[in-house]
Amino acid sequence: MLTGYAELVAWGVYAGALTEPEAARLRRRSRDDPDGARTAFTRARDIRDDLDEIFRSLAGGGEPRPAALARLRDGESDALGHARLERGSPFTWSWRDDHTLDRPLRPVVHAAVGLLTAGPLDRIKGCGGCSFLFVDESKNRSRRWCSMEDCGTSEKIRRYVAARRSRSAR
Ligand SMILES: [Zn+2]
Repeated sequence: MLTGYAELVAWGVYAGALTEPEAARLRRRSRDDPDGARTAFTRARDIRDDLDEIFRSLAGGGEPRPAALARLRDGESDALGHARLERGSPFTWSWRDDHTLDRPLRPVVHAAVGLLTAGPLDRIKGCGGCSFLFVDESKNRSRRWCSMEDCGTSEKIRRYVAARRSRSAR
């Protein structure tokens, strides 16, 4: 999926973890330090694999491996070590002053730990149409797709086509 540091940064913007100026700064930094960018990218991919494994097993009613949880704990410790408490009501963790190459995934790790510790764990689901995981925030917990615009729509189209096919077969 992710093939290099530039894609990681692009994904960070897409996911709302990075602003565009932050992304531009990280791109510049990665060009100045290609070795560091490669290391940061590998680390990010490992973390992503751990997160995927942890939440996929929870979505399937299983238990995450202790080793994956321990690595996530280390990631959270590292993330908070680079964050600052920003004034708000309530205060929030901010990575605005963090210009290191590991910056993109830090808010993601922190949000993942937040979800693990605060829940709702029973709303973590695997999409019925693709390999995505999502948190079902619908009132009656009826959501089955990662996003209705993409997977939900293609599922509706599939059903529509199937219904037409069975009608014309009659
Ligand atoms: Zn999906």
